Amino acid sequence: MNAVVRRCVARAGIPCIWRGKCFSSGSGNEPAESNRVTPMLRHLMYKIKSTGPITVAEYMKEVLTNPAKGYYVHHDMLGEKGDFITSPEISQIFGELLGVWFVSEWIASGKSTAFQLVELGPGRGTLTADILRVFSQLGSVLKACDISIHLVEVSQRLSEIQALTLTEEKVPLERDAESLVYMKGITKSGIPISWYRDLKDVPKGYSFYLAHEFFDVLPVHKFQKTPHGWREVLVDVDPQASDKLRFVLAPCATPAEAFIQGFYGHQLHDVLIAPGTADLTADVDFSYLRRMAQEKVACLGPVEQRTFLKNMGIDVRLKVLLDKAGEPSMKQQLLRGYDMLMNPQKMGERFNFFALLPHQRLHGGSQERNARQSKTPSSSVAGFNELIWQ
Ligand code: SAH
Repeated sequence: MNAVVRRCVARAGIPCIWRGKCFSSGSGNEPAESNRVTPMLRHLMYKIKSTGPITVAEYMKEVLTNPAKGYYVHHDMLGEKGDFITSPEISQIFGELLGVWFVSEWIASGKSTAFQLVELGPGRGTLTADILRVFSQLGSVLKACDISIHLVEVSQRLSEIQALTLTEEKVPLERDAESLVYMKGITKSGIPISWYRDLKDVPKGYSFYLAHEFFDVLPVHKFQKTPHGWREVLVDVDPQASDKLRFVLAPCATPAEAFIQGFYGHQLHDVLIAPGTADLTADVDFSYLRRMAQEKVACLGPVEQRTFLKNMGIDVRLKVLLDKAGEPSMKQQLLRGYDMLMNPQKMGERFNFFALLPHQRLHGGSQERNARQSKTPSSSVAGFNELIWQ
């Protein structure tokens, strides 16, 4: 079984593939960094001068995940003091409700005797930590189930932070930089946990996959419509300023053009300044994901974050936590977090949930076909409809 819950910013109708995450006010490096010739810029200049302009996908890959200088590889960019803040970092309720979602789906799909929880790009490990707390609290429900955790992470720095957040410090981690499983350990609640650089290295098995703010950092190709047809946008050295990069159009068809399926012209943004110091993201095209998944799995959503969390019972959970919170400052923090996640002007409508589920999880027979084609979520899947314990 392979269920995926993912969430990210939807294409918001702006003619632009770049977008910012929810940048935290604590980030102080934008203006100061913007004119710097960074080591990454030098590396890119050298590369382009040696082999010619590179695709936007190659640019993103280098800037974000280059093993020596990539933005994700050596930074901890998350949290209030980092460059941007994500929902699991804002409130524990976010991860807790996802924990409830997984348990509810595990029950609804037949209570398998074992499952793997696979998270792609786990950041600081906060989301998995909150999910695991729920698994522990619902230990009596899950007691006969053999659970293991599998994290797919390219960042050395973040994997260390994830290990600190998630593992039992008395049990030493097994490390092997050369192996496909580069780190292994036991979580604080006694569950086996392993780290991989690539999803294809995660063992096959009955799995739930979770990708939060992940698909939007994967490299994308960029195209522009010209009188001669679609042309790929490339990144080149600016001949007017030797320490700057610029976008150019490929003079003729490039291999990636074979994959075009209805792209439209995108406005260019200044993502070429000080590469390696800031995040690069692309909007995720849910309709494309839906088309790609068609027939193989059923798609639910996208639904707005505030709808999903409301359906999962965020108000009830908030009330429980408010009742338990002693300090007024704690109550304030809970309310601020709730507002950030739910307010339509903040993350409530900008972020979306999307799930891929096996067809048999939804309706059988003719209803199954309808579920495949319909954007209307199945009534039996929590979050896309109100949570009902079965
Ligand atoms: N899910 C977390 C972090 C999102 S930031 C949260 O919501 O807080 C993106 C995460 O994906 C980081 O952990 C980054 O190191 C990781 N990442 C980026 N590109 C990756 C790739 N190609 N493969 C695996 N992980 C990647």
